[in-house]
Amino acid sequence: MLQVCLPLNALGFVYREARDALVNAEKLFELLREQPEIKEAPGMPSLRIDRAEVVFEHVNFHYDPARPILHDVSFRIAPGQTVAVVGGSGSGKSTLARLLLRFYDVTGGRILIDGQDIRHVSPTSLRRHIGVVPQDTILFNDTIAYNIGYGRNDASNEDVIAAAKAAHIHDFIQSLPQGYATEVGERGVKLSGGEKQRIAIARAMLKNPSILIFDEATSALDTQSERAIQSELDRLSENRTSLVIAHRLSTVVDADEIIVLQHGRVMERGTHEKLLQQNGAYAGLWQLQLRSDEQESPTALS
Ligand code: ADP
Ligand code: MG
Repeated sequence: MLQVCLPLNALGFVYREARDALVNAEKLFELLREQPEIKEAPGMPSLRIDRAEVVFEHVNFHYDPARPILHDVSFRIAPGQTVAVVGGSGSGKSTLARLLLRFYDVTGGRILIDGQDIRHVSPTSLRRHIGVVPQDTILFNDTIAYNIGYGRNDASNEDVIAAAKAAHIHDFIQSLPQGYATEVGERGVKLSGGEKQRIAIARAMLKNPSILIFDEATSALDTQSERAIQSELDRLSENRTSLVIAHRLSTVVDADEIIVLQHGRVMERGTHEKLLQQNGAYAGLWQLQLRSDEQESPTALS
């Protein structure tokens, strides 16, 4: 995701301001990462989730008309299935995620969820059904319990603990002197990259969305932490329609379809097996990654 470089104390400040103003924290979290161009308009119907099918139909997109970013991108994520997108840095992977969250509108084609063009539903309702595990999870200067439960005002302590257990972070939290009441963020306990991602997973589990986006969710982790967290990510995406943006191919092997994006175009697509047989760009990247794994130096694709 596009990073907004706010100093952490500014984050805390903006957050407290917003909390006082009763701004939806979920929305704020996204706002801090990125300014959505698409704001809530009155009177729009809510997204109705039936089976959570996601369709990108001939999608074109540019941030700036002088520089097209996506060209005729089409794919379908069947209900409960996973589509993975791989490709070099700047190829447009995160842009797909931003479009699905409707931070921006497509400039051609359309995106459908259960047959509804996402431009025709309320952005808030859309975002309520989509969970995101980003590359770097921003933690609020607040307690661990708040950070897990945030976005779900109605969550009970039991709900928070159940989510933490599912994300395999409960024991760690219990080991802290103040447990779930431990303050994290700028003035609190510093968490490792893996611990932060487990908080993000717990948060997403609690949100219980029908649709999930993982945007390089493990790219800030070393190979060992990545492996440790993979089964929790798999569990989170089980039976949920998932868009997985990956920098390491090991995380996409099981995807129902892999899309290789190059300069905003679909260059190859298929299952892992099929793409290896095809012996094209994906197979090349796979070989490259195998070799770098042997050298135990995690090389990223993007
Ligand atoms: P990836 O995730 O594959 O690395 P992105 O989807 O983030 O790539 O970006 C695709 C292209 O769009 C890049 O060239 C990037 O510089 C450009 N881009 C991303 N965000 C913006 C923005 N808000 N305004 C203008 N250009 C952007
Ligand atoms: Mg990206």
